[in-house]
Amino acid sequence: MDYIPAKHILVRNRSTAWFGTDHTMNLYRGCYHGCLYCDSRSDCYRIPDFDRVTAKANALPLLRDELARKVRPAFIGMGAMSDPYNPFEEALLLTRHALELIDAYGCGAAAATKSGLILRDADLYQSIQTHSPVICKITVTTADGELAAKIEPRAPSPARRLKAVEGLARAGIFCGVLLMPVLPFLEDRPEQVLEVVDRAADAGARFIYPGFGVTMRQGQREYFLRQLDLAFPDQNLSQRYLARYGSRYQCPSPRARQLWEIFARRCQDRGLLYRMPHIVSAATRGYGDRQLSFFS
Ligand code: SF4
Repeated sequence: MDYIPAKHILVRNRSTAWFGTDHTMNLYRGCYHGCLYCDSRSDCYRIPDFDRVTAKANALPLLRDELARKVRPAFIGMGAMSDPYNPFEEALLLTRHALELIDAYGCGAAAATKSGLILRDADLYQSIQTHSPVICKITVTTADGELAAKIEPRAPSPARRLKAVEGLARAGIFCGVLLMPVLPFLEDRPEQVLEVVDRAADAGARFIYPGFGVTMRQGQREYFLRQLDLAFPDQNLSQRYLARYGSRYQCPSPRARQLWEIFARRCQDRGLLYRMPHIVSAATRGYGDRQLSFFS
């Protein structure tokens, strides 16, 4: 494991639209999971060699100092640019120690991951939940293990991720599934989407939040399309993507509207929250005036 120095660790979000969080934190740079579609490979982020994970050497003292200076408790999101539960975290415990600080300073935490290692920290999420909101998000883009192994080659299987949802739910932690991206031509058949909804509900998820499509931009687009053709050599996917989306950033599934309708209906039937304001409201309910401040 290599280390890099960091000047800051908490980045203030421009809005609280994404799960109500007002700060973002990345303790690692790069990611191990190798998802073909990963936006963090885009040139604008300037992370060459994205598949190599490095840790921010002074992350914990920086976090402690930045938390100590906060007037109002922060609601901190993790997992935007790298998975906080990459395999190195098991021994390194950076995420775990950061959660201990977040807990000690009375802040809230939201984490997005594809790893069951999140269950190790269930005790800390439970403790944080006694004073502040917690949102644990497990990404599942397909319930099909073989398909996931091609698209997210080094990430744990969907079955293991759903087991993590089950464990978190059983521990009483507010958790759900991120169903995004749903890759056009690969993961966007109605039955594929409904299977993820059903498996999430069976696992005890409180919510499922979808993105029926993918994003593509400079650097990441070229990598993504090249890898798609390698992983699915008979499907001519790069040409189909380019013919439909060209150089666009937002690339919605051709079935996005239909998917949204059947998805929403199934979520209602299964008692899952699926609209952002409802998810945030449920996660922050009971934490006094903080609930409103997240939307300000
Ligand atoms: S887990 Fe997230 S950060 Fe890591 S490669 Fe996949 S999409 Fe990128």
